[in-house]
Parts: sequence; structure tokens; C-alpha cells
Amino acid sequence: MTTPLQGTSLIGFSRGGKTKSLGPATNPASGETFGIEYFGASEAEVEQAARLAGEAFPVYSALPGSDRAGFLRRIADEIEAAVERIAELGPLETGLPEARMRGETGRTTGQLRMFADLIEEGSWVDARIDHAQPERQPLPKPDLRSMKRPLGPVAVFCASNFPLAFSVAGGDTASALAAGCPVIAKAHSSHPGIAEIVGECVVRAARDCGMPEGVFSLLHGGGRDVGMALVGHPVIQAVGFTGSRSGGTALMEAAAKRPQPIPVHAEMSAVNPVVLLPAALDERGEAIADGLFGSLTLGAGQFCTNPGLVFLPDGHGEAFLAKLSELVAAGSSAVMLNAGICDAFKQATAAIAAIDEVKTLAAAPDEAGRCTPSLFSVSLADFVANPALHAEMFGPATLVVRGKTEEFAEVIAGLEGQLVGTIHATDAELPEHAGLVAALEKRVGRLVLNGFPTGVEVCPSMVHGGPWPSTSDGRSTSVGTLAIDRFCRQVAWQGFPAAALPEELRDDNPRGIMRLVDGVHTR
Ligand code: NAP
Repeated sequence: MTTPLQGTSLIGFSRGGKTKSLGPATNPASGETFGIEYFGASEAEVEQAARLAGEAFPVYSALPGSDRAGFLRRIADEIEAAVERIAELGPLETGLPEARMRGETGRTTGQLRMFADLIEEGSWVDARIDHAQPERQPLPKPDLRSMKRPLGPVAVFCASNFPLAFSVAGGDTASALAAGCPVIAKAHSSHPGIAEIVGECVVRAARDCGMPEGVFSLLHGGGRDVGMALVGHPVIQAVGFTGSRSGGTALMEAAAKRPQPIPVHAEMSAVNPVVLLPAALDERGEAIADGLFGSLTLGAGQFCTNPGLVFLPDGHGEAFLAKLSELVAAGSSAVMLNAGICDAFKQATAAIAAIDEVKTLAAAPDEAGRCTPSLFSVSLADFVANPALHAEMFGPATLVVRGKTEEFAEVIAGLEGQLVGTIHATDAELPEHAGLVAALEKRVGRLVLNGFPTGVEVCPSMVHGGPWPSTSDGRSTSVGTLAIDRFCRQVAWQGFPAAALPEELRDDNPRGIMRLVDGVHTR
């Protein structure tokens, strides 16, 4: 059933009030506001959402995986049924094309169903059983069993650059709900209407599947107060965030200062180095330029995996550079997600262009209120000497760093942590540069050979994470089934009888899951 947007938060199964006006949404293409007025959650509403989430947690986390799976699948069905509304409103709120809205809706529902399959199958809990050895000398061994348990209510900050797949019912929410954690989502002010449409889908699914009230709430808010109140609330046990480094670190500091500090899984800035090796460049320089340009300008460069840094060997790559410069100079302008992001991109590219050692190789003509692609270059020595050149330019701009191939590994070893590292090499030259690949591996979450960093497959082996500051915790991923681990902790039971153990840890294995029993993986 379709209800018109109301502009208010969703607090459990009820609506928030209309006291704190945030104004209407802004169309980034025109700069004009449109549609209904939105209202931020009050302090009392944050409190109520947290109280409901706290009450829902013991009930929701105790449900069998099959019930939670049914809930996730129902959310996916509801979102699919809302795709026409999303496709209509999304481009107005985000400047992203309708096709992207439809594609991202499919990715979001796919993620929800992937987590549904995971928890229904059940082996994800990593059940471990070590039977007692009462006769062991010099001391008897106790019966010990452990498995993953959910942390508790999770606060999810919606991303500006993924209005669906990293927002209200995106990867963070799907993995937290799958783990057994209630979610309170904080809408992003760039797309409040999409947030509300998807939030209503989640609430409808929760009601229809008989989930406890408070398993999900959606709060509108601006000016940081709602976000800070959530992170500081004692009920909240973990945070999922995608956005700026300053935002992520502010939330981490707030979480660390709590009487009970909690984990913040923040995905922040990255420049995702691309290393081009001589023989690959000589063999297919123009084709690499074509592919790199596509990756650089995809979604107006507003991807965390955007290739913002290219290592180019001295004496090679003239055809590559000529082609890339030609493409960038002729590149079209694009609307960015909001005026703040567009201003930040223009400031970042102007600042880099003003550095004496940096050469602007190509830039499409500037257009007011829109971004255009830019290509810069600098020597390896100057890149190393100036940390300002290592920062993310969120948008379609990249910096080519030229130097000796044999010096790349050392420079890469000194880079900040990144989500993705890409290398273009021929079969013959890859083994010759094993040290470079090893250096890259230490700095990134995902290595790509002869491809491009954008395009994050959603599947069990995906790692979309990386060392600081690409994420706050390089051991985690926010895409793929391993994302569920962020919202769990392993708990051990020592000496408990079967009747008092979770089903997953009973000797007869009633769920038929894969387990580690006395050191052997077995079903
Ligand atoms: P943002 O400014 O970090 O905001 C994201 C969310 O976090 C918003 O809901 C915001 O709440 C909240 N927030 C931010 N700082 C906070 C603080 N100090 N205390 C409490 N809550 C806080 O990110 P954005 O709006 O998406 O984009 C801004 C910049 O982030 C971009 O220009 C880009 O440089 C970077 N960015 C990077 C990536 C990436 O993947 N690498 C993705 C998106 C953005 P409010 O609504 O209350 O402000």
C-alpha cells in the first residue's frame, strides 16, 4: 500500500512529530527545494527509538534464523514493489540517473536476500565444540562451545553517495538485522524522501512478519545532534557509517568517550592507487586509458573506490597519457549529490592545481554547480614530499605520479590505507614485481589485476574495507557476507548441558550446520 510521504521519522511502528523543521529536499540539479517539508527527530524521539530497540533486542535476537530470513526477504519484496516511486524521486533528490536508482534497488534487495540465505543456512555463526576430556592429565579439559551472538542495537548512518545500497536498508542494516541486532537508521539529508520510502518498507515488513516493535526505526536529522545522541545512547552497541573522514572520526571519538565505548565501523576516504607497469602500458596503453576514464567518471566520480591516484613509470605510457588527457578534456559535466559535495570537489581540485609542482594535464571546461573531470600529474619525489597530494578529491579527478618503477613499492608502502589497489601488468612482468604487489597488499582491502577499482561485487568473498583511514577497522568489510561479523561477538559456554545450549551448539546438530568439532570441520 502506498502512502504519501509525511516527512517525519519512523519510531518503531509510530510516526515522529513535526516540531523540528529541516525544510524540503533540494534538487542538486537546479539548487531548488521541492516537495514536502521534513522534520528532524526530537531528543524524546531518539530516546523512544532507543528504548524500543533495547526492548526489541532480546526478542528479536532469540528468533530462529529462518524467521529473521523471512523478515529480510519481505523487506526486499517491499522495496521491489516501491521501485517506481524510488526511480521517480531518486533522481530529483540525488542527481543520479533513473537507471542507477533501479540498479541500486536491485543491489539492495539482492543484499537483503543474500543475508537471508546466509542466516537461514546457519553455519555463519562459526559454531565450535571442544568436548570435555575429564581424564586429561595433568588437568581435566572442560566442555567448551562457542558461537557468534549479536551485539545489540546498531545505529546506521546513511551514505550520501549510495541512497539505497548503503542507506536505510543497505548493507549495514541488512547485516545488522541478519545478525539479530535491531537498527536505528539516521537518514541522510540529501535524500530524505528515498529514506522515508525505504523506511516504510522496512516497517511494513516488520509488522507483517510479526517482528517486535523497535526492531527498526528511521530518524531524520540535521546539524549533527541526532547522530551524536544516537552514538552516545547507552542502548546502542555498534555504529555503521559511510561518509567523510571528519564525520567518521567525530563519531569514533564520541563512541570512545562513552562510559562503555562501542565499535564504530566507519568507511571514509580512499584514493585507491592504480599501478601501471611498463610492458602492460606498451601493450595496451590506450585501452587502459579508456577503462580508467570510465572508472574515474562513473557516477560523477562519487564512489569510495574511485581511482584517485595513478603510478606511471618513467619512459612509458605516452599513448596512455595522451588518450586519457583527450578523454578528460572532452569529458562532460555532471550534477553531484549535493551542493556541499560539489563545492568540496571544486575546492580540492583548485587547491591541487595551485601547487607549483603539480601540472594540470587536462580539465574539461568548468561549469557552475556541476563537476567536470580533471587530470593532474606530479613527480614521485614531489608526491612523497607533500602529504596534501595524498588526500581524497571526492569526484572525477585523478593524480598521475611519474617515477621509476623500482621506487613505487616503497612509496606505496608509505601510503595511507585504501579500499582497493589495482595493478596492470603482463603475465611476464607480474612475477617480476612481486615486492610491489606485496607492498600494495599491506595497504588495501582488495587487489585488482588488469581491471578497475569501481564495481564492487556483492558476494561472500568480497572485501570492501581496508586499513585506516579507508575504514576505521581494517579487519572488516561492509560488503559481502562477512559484513555480519561487525555486529557480533563470539561467546563461549563452558560445562553447559545440551538443554541449556543454543541449538547450534548441541551434539546432535539439529540445524545441520557446518561446525568445528574437536578441531575438525564437520556437518
Ligand atoms: P558526512 O558529512 O560525513 O555526513 C554523513 C552522515 O554523518 C550525515 O548523516 C551526518 O549528519 C553525519 N555526521 C557527519 N559528521 C558528524 C558529526 N561530527 N557528528 C554527528 N554526525 C555527523 O558525509 P557526506 O555528507 O556524505 O559527504 C561529505 C564529504 O564526505 C564528501 O564531500 C566526501 O568528501 C566525503 N565522502 C566520502 C565517501 C567515500 O566513500 N569515501 C562517501 C561519501 C562522502 P548530519 O546530517 O546531521 O550532518
